[in-house]
Amino acid sequence: MNPNTFEYSESFAREMDAKDKLAHFRTRFHFPKVEGKEAIYFCGNSLGLQPKSVKDYLGKELSNWADLAVDGHFHGEDAWYHIRKKSKPALAEILGAQEHEVVAMNNLSVNLHLLMVSFYRPTKERYKIIVEAGAFPSDQYMLETQIKFHGLNPENVLLELSPRTGEHTLRTEDILAEIRIHGDSLAMVNMSGIQYYTGQLFDLKAITAAAHEVGAMAGFDLAHAAGNAVLKLHDWEVDFATWCSYKYLNSGPGNVSGIFVHERYAERPDLPRFAGWWGHDEGERFRMEKGFVPMHGADGWQLANSNVLALAAHQASLDIFQEAGMENLRAKSERLTAYLEFLIEHISGNSGVLEIITPKNPAERGCQLSLLIHRGGKAVFDEFYKHGVVGDWRNPNVIRLAPTPLYNSYLDVFRFATILEQSLEKFA
Ligand SMILES: *Cc1c(COP(=O)(O)O)cnc(C)c1O
Repeated sequence: MNPNTFEYSESFAREMDAKDKLAHFRTRFHFPKVEGKEAIYFCGNSLGLQPKSVKDYLGKELSNWADLAVDGHFHGEDAWYHIRKKSKPALAEILGAQEHEVVAMNNLSVNLHLLMVSFYRPTKERYKIIVEAGAFPSDQYMLETQIKFHGLNPENVLLELSPRTGEHTLRTEDILAEIRIHGDSLAMVNMSGIQYYTGQLFDLKAITAAAHEVGAMAGFDLAHAAGNAVLKLHDWEVDFATWCSYKYLNSGPGNVSGIFVHERYAERPDLPRFAGWWGHDEGERFRMEKGFVPMHGADGWQLANSNVLALAAHQASLDIFQEAGMENLRAKSERLTAYLEFLIEHISGNSGVLEIITPKNPAERGCQLSLLIHRGGKAVFDEFYKHGVVGDWRNPNVIRLAPTPLYNSYLDVFRFATILEQSLEKFA
């Protein structure tokens, strides 16, 4: 991506859109209005837009419920009893997994806890956990309370990595060095895939390899990575991961999460877990007998029967992902975000109002750019919003903008730039 090939002009943006093979996907989504006008929606990192097809997918299950009632559990191809299987091919592609390594279930914070039950097994010698400083609050509370659950003191267990002085993001070499320093006492690396505040994409492959070298586990919260970065969880030998479906995966507010458990644990009934009947051997489930026998793979971590309405909305979006293809989406994403970066740097230059803190290297970020606001604070964000830009503000002083390749256009990015230019006059 050579920024010299970008231009700050509407005709250039329109030309890029005309050449974009994914441009037509935009028409498959509902866009909200701000002040009566269609928004420039850069908030897919928080809540993805609604695919227009969601209504039909939900309608079909509502009809099945009305017409079949309890028989819907075993009726036809899409019988609810097996409905979880439907999302597996798309999830496997998005996460870079085998189908049996993934399953949609619960919500993200719940899954973080369930996975820790199985994979965080502290001993007297090996108990430490590496996490990035300033992790998402749910992850912080999960780690704190999991550690206490084992009777340990978080202060002795948690190693929170901060960027070097004067830097905003972590260097991979420093993460790997920390892993090696703690070696035999390290139980686990438990980080996000993409850091929600800075937008930094971590090198999951290198981190996992380093963790394994010292005999530790590697697990990731992929809330901001799923559907955004190209992931190869199976090949990278990541131990476990979880994500949510309402950010880049466009499946609706609070919708279902998913988990990844690597193949090497597919037949490990000895791993401790908090079980429920839906993780129990499917063929035997209705015998209603004592003695938990986990299903093969990730399915063995399910507790409860599938939320069919939630999965219907999820599927509407997953089918679009399959049609578009993760590699195609990522190729566009790198260009679209680079264009946004180019325009922000071109316009804000040395105004001193803001600074992009997300790494410049496309391999170290997804589509989100985080702008650290030096002057004007939240008023800068409010000014954007007044002109129809939906991004989000994160305390203490960051605006996150996420042009998503599925429904954002180069013209969106250009229009944002004109608004940025006007806004800066107020704060410069
Ligand atoms: C969005 C997000 C969550 C949200 O958790 P829920 O259980 O879905 O409410 C958790 N962790 C990270 C890193 C997130 O970005």
